[in-house]
Amino acid sequence: MSDRSSYAMVNQYFDEGAELVRLKDEMYDVLKSSYREIAVQVPVRMDSGELRVFLGYRVQHNGARGPYKGGIRYHTSANLDEVRAMASLMTWKTALLDVPFGGAKGGITVDPTDMSPREVEAMTRRFTLAISHILGDNRDIPAPDLNTNAQTMAWMMDAFSSRYGYTPAIVTGKHVDLGGAPGREAATGRGAVYVLEGADRKWGLDLSRQRVVIQGFGNVGSWAARELHQRGVKIVGVSDVSGGLYSDAGLDIPALLGWASTHRPLADATGDFDAVTNDELLVSPCEVLIPAALGEVIDEDNAGQVQAAVVVEAANNPVTPEADKILHDRGIKVIPDILANAGGVTGSYFEWVQNVQRFRWKEDRFNAELAEAMQRAFNVTSAFADAHSVPLRRAAFAIGIERVARASKLRGYV
Ligand code: GLU
Repeated sequence: MSDRSSYAMVNQYFDEGAELVRLKDEMYDVLKSSYREIAVQVPVRMDSGELRVFLGYRVQHNGARGPYKGGIRYHTSANLDEVRAMASLMTWKTALLDVPFGGAKGGITVDPTDMSPREVEAMTRRFTLAISHILGDNRDIPAPDLNTNAQTMAWMMDAFSSRYGYTPAIVTGKHVDLGGAPGREAATGRGAVYVLEGADRKWGLDLSRQRVVIQGFGNVGSWAARELHQRGVKIVGVSDVSGGLYSDAGLDIPALLGWASTHRPLADATGDFDAVTNDELLVSPCEVLIPAALGEVIDEDNAGQVQAAVVVEAANNPVTPEADKILHDRGIKVIPDILANAGGVTGSYFEWVQNVQRFRWKEDRFNAELAEAMQRAFNVTSAFADAHSVPLRRAAFAIGIERVARASKLRGYV
């Protein structure tokens, strides 16, 4: 595990991208720091009667291109530094996909997996009201992230609406019955697959002959697995927090999706595969590796053992800058998070558009628009990377930074 802060790592990626864009010093200072960071106490009466006080954060990184946008994570790693890093990633991600949002992130330092639903609901409502003065459907729009989901968004929307009036567009990633968009739930995993298909066409990977390993079987990993399986791609490894499964002959993905849909740990599943740890899974034999869970899982200690030829960053910040360099030197291509997982926020944009227009799209339209947006972003990024002979990550950051700098200048920020 690297001992550098997450924000320092994201800033290294920012600096490497910014070098390709001629930024004045004063613009550099504006783009590198956050606009607003708030920390709030979140007191929760637990079922035991005890009062626990959690810490919650919302960081608004840059709003030059539109309302602040980004997920809320409930995780023990979610401190101010990590949330700040993720907010910065959101700024470059929304700009790269050219959706009219800025970048933000929020979180509570907590492990919600051992809390009751009532406790999580109370925590969510308290947190929402504590940050509600900086939210708004034209100001800052949260969404799901690690350990949060459509139910969390429903509580957030209800808490906000009870104070300010019915506002479905205050959050995205809602249940369809509450103004959510058919297709949004699948959008991050599906978007990663659309980008991988773009890479397949460009690099001639021949996906039908590739072995894929996916770390993480939550919303993103399970949808990526489902989509790849439907395309006849062989998935040889998957994992969740309980551990991983590997079979060179390919895993029975529909059976595992059925297993996981009832919230059973993958480590308890039975079938024709070997049990592996999450660490072993990342370095197992495969051609395509999709980290779709936590950040910083590929670092300088294991990057030298990664066997894949392509890494698709469906998680946020899964590869440290030290590891990124090792992978690059080994000729392994990395499709960076701000491109690979941008289907989530692009889908959020489609949901928000439908909410503000009070008009519902069919899922076919949602998926077609998503595929087009992801393909366009991949093409623009790979053309820039080719033109400047730089890796995709540097190209993606440079494009995002350039767009945000242009909007910031037009708005008179500097
Ligand atoms: N949490 C997702 C991300 O990291 C989605 C954010 C959003 O839709 O606002 O991109």
